[in-house]
Amino acid sequence: MKLPPFEYACPTTISEAVALLDSHDGEAKPLAGGQSLVPMLAFRVASPSLLVDLRKLSELRQIEILPDGVTLGAMVRWCEILDDARLRTAHPLLVAAVAHVAHYQIRNRGTVGGSMAHADPAAEMPGIAVTCEAQIAVIGKAGARVIAAGDFFRGPLTTALDPDEIITEIRLPAWPARRRFGFQEFSRRRGDFALAAAALFYDEDGEKKARNVHVGAIGVGDRPLRLPSVEAVVNGQKVDDAVIAKAEAAASAAVDPPDDIHASGAYRRALVGVMVERALKNAAT
Ligand SMILES: Cc1cc2nc3c(=O)[nH]c(=O)nc-3n(C[C@H](O)[C@H](O)[C@H](O)COP(=O)(O)OP(=O)(O)OC[C@H]3O[C@@H](n4cnc5c(N)ncnc54)[C@H](O)[C@@H]3O)c2cc1C
Repeated sequence: MKLPPFEYACPTTISEAVALLDSHDGEAKPLAGGQSLVPMLAFRVASPSLLVDLRKLSELRQIEILPDGVTLGAMVRWCEILDDARLRTAHPLLVAAVAHVAHYQIRNRGTVGGSMAHADPAAEMPGIAVTCEAQIAVIGKAGARVIAAGDFFRGPLTTALDPDEIITEIRLPAWPARRRFGFQEFSRRRGDFALAAAALFYDEDGEKKARNVHVGAIGVGDRPLRLPSVEAVVNGQKVDDAVIAKAEAAASAAVDPPDDIHASGAYRRALVGVMVERALKNAAT
């Protein structure tokens, strides 16, 4: 299908990119990997007057691993996360989740910043960002600001970004070496968007009780969700079969997904419980 007409610019600095985005009355859009935007153009879901290609902004391509956490430049591609051996210890939950993103060709071009800005409720990266309390660094004509992942997603394909703003970095807090985690996803075919997924982690105290429990759910709401009622079930407990069964029930009770063409709400509700159960079993073993 032919794309609608648009102007194209390929700036070499972030300030030039912001100025270009600001120059088209909210009708300009950044272009990253194009794996979501180009299909949206083809289907006329989006018809920006200007595409601002971010590919020459090399400062957005860095993966930094520092004592206070992992910073992913917005233009870091999925394949670069999977290929970076450091991340397997610096953030194994991120790597486990990204392994479920799309197919080889799409992982070769798609970026973390594009995924965050696209804000598909069934996408893995937004779910990891919310579960891990990531910080999203953005820059626009009013300057730079940092948005907590929990405040970033406003609904399907809707974020807190202003039209002139570009995501520059996603910052994930440090990951202790002995942290326990699980990621489970169910989709119709490998590489499809999740029908439901669960991302979770916790630390253990000296008595092997779970502390600092974080549980996130993907694909079961209008945005990625934290599930505080499930966290409350697990926090302070030894993660045994009884606790896992309670967590599963709490997860299903916590969400209310609508019916859609892919699955009924009831199915997704049951599924997210199973995903939490399996992820907790992974974490505990
Ligand atoms: C067949 C298929 C299957 C897929 N399966 C999955 C899947 O299972 N899981 C998953 O998570 N994704 C999936 N995707 C989407 C894929 O991961 C995309 O790469 C991703 O959603 C968008 O990244 P992109 O770099 O291609 O962004 P683009 O398509 O270039 O842009 C997407 C949106 O983000 C905006 N944008 C891009 N970069 C920035 C930035 N730095 N700052 C502000 N706004 C920005 C654009 O203006 C646009 O609105 C799939 C895509 C396809 C085509």
